[in-house]
Amino acid sequence: MRITFIGLGNMGAPMARNLIKAGHAVTVFDLNPQAVSALVEAGARAAGSPAEAAREAEFVVTMLPAAAHVEAVLTGLQGVLNGVPKGVPIVDSSTIDPASARRLAEKAAAHGNPFADAPVSGGTGGAAAGTLTFMVGADEALFKQAQPVLQAMGQNIVHCGGTGTGQVAKICNNLLLAISMIGVSEAMSLGASLGIDPKVLAGIINTSSGRCWSADTYNPYPGIIETAPASRGYTGGFGVDLMLKDLGLAIDAAKGAHQPLMLGAVAQQLYQMWSQQGQGKLDFSSIIQLYQQPH
Ligand code: NAD
Repeated sequence: MRITFIGLGNMGAPMARNLIKAGHAVTVFDLNPQAVSALVEAGARAAGSPAEAAREAEFVVTMLPAAAHVEAVLTGLQGVLNGVPKGVPIVDSSTIDPASARRLAEKAAAHGNPFADAPVSGGTGGAAAGTLTFMVGADEALFKQAQPVLQAMGQNIVHCGGTGTGQVAKICNNLLLAISMIGVSEAMSLGASLGIDPKVLAGIINTSSGRCWSADTYNPYPGIIETAPASRGYTGGFGVDLMLKDLGLAIDAAKGAHQPLMLGAVAQQLYQMWSQQGQGKLDFSSIIQLYQQPH
């Protein structure tokens, strides 16, 4: 299938590579020329704008930082909607707010294109391994159409409900992830400063009731999990500023629903403080360093 992929960052690049590996003809666009060259070397075709990239597409995927970027890429002067043939599905895998996803779906529908929100979880490791979970907000027909394409990039393709519900699932998951990473950071830092070997502590937590993904797959303490960003200087994972963005989405959505988010609000302030200290580009598990300042 001819697939257009826009947004070749930490997540998008490995996802686009998996589409190529699955035998699709992939056309790419990104503002960063180096990201484009790397994909061209892997077999993709480069385009000069989102509109040009989508001109011959049979399927479009976007993987961009936030709603404003998705809006610009889809509806801008050189945007996808100004090039893509009618009827071609557009699937946005960025994490954005449910209301923006619904608004973009309406704009795409006005051009004759079905739109699904399909944010992912699984991190950069899952993107590279093709084991992401996709949370899809779409009608049944569009979900069935998107499923085989998404299966080249992910293991679990879950239909969450109508447009926007994929983003609802995603922001609720990331709210919990933000909080659990801080919890694991507190426990690991306390244990280390009280004199237990952090590896022994992690082993106990991971076979006890404190076990969670932040502890057993992505532990923030360096040297516990070889493949986690903590073991490579907190590089190449899910940035503090992206986590802050997701917490903002959850808190905004909660306001609209009159739903209190106590721990979410505290987590937001901790990541905000860490970002303010110049650490916004580090992986979010670096939040453990807030607990490791010299005293
Ligand atoms: P990233 O910042 O690494 O990549 C974003 C890419 O989009 C960059 O290559 C950038 O040049 C490109 N871009 C920005 N504006 C553009 C435009 N107008 N036109 C074309 N390209 C443009 O981000 P990422 O880590 O790949 O995350 C992408 C999305 O996936 C975010 O919404 C994030 O919240 C979500 N997400 C990330 C992870 C993770 O572990 N990194 C996990 C799940 C979900």
